[in-house]
Amino acid sequence: MDTCCAPCALPALRLFAPPEFEAHYLFYNPNVHPFREYRRRLESFETLMGEEGLAYTVVPYEPEEWIRAVAFREESRCELCYRLRLRKAADIALDEGYEAVTTTLFASPYQDHELINLIGRSVCRSRGLEFVAWDGRDGYYETIAAARAKGMYTQPYCGCLLSERERYDRGRRAADRGE
Ligand code: SF4
Repeated sequence: MDTCCAPCALPALRLFAPPEFEAHYLFYNPNVHPFREYRRRLESFETLMGEEGLAYTVVPYEPEEWIRAVAFREESRCELCYRLRLRKAADIALDEGYEAVTTTLFASPYQDHELINLIGRSVCRSRGLEFVAWDGRDGYYETIAAARAKGMYTQPYCGCLLSERERYDRGRRAADRGE
């Protein structure tokens, strides 16, 4: 389970629960900037994994991997970002003997589900793995409310520096809309 953050993992915990599934959660998020934001999301993820007694892996933080993946192609950054993370999840799933890969990105209405599905199927097919799509968008606001009720950190932007600017630079957003 490629895991973007603890709140988006909440619906996945229910959907991919034993005995039907033996899920392993992967925290590989070189797309999250700056470092203190990354650390906050990681702490929240590790707290949830501990509370739920779930198996998980954290890949050491190397934001250079995301920077190299998107440099000079910033307009396509989300596609490249999804590919980077799903490739890592598929490589680890293959090494560890898992049959399928999915992602908590499917919990969010702010992510491009169709693109994630295309990329996920492509990286999994080439490794002989199944890619599992699901859709948590309808329950997203309940998910966020549940996360807040648990005292979980809920981040205000997707992850990268560019998404942080989009979130907070109102002047730029207005200019992009031609206002
Ligand atoms: S906006 Fe989100 S999905 Fe897109 S590149 Fe930034 S962190 Fe990745």
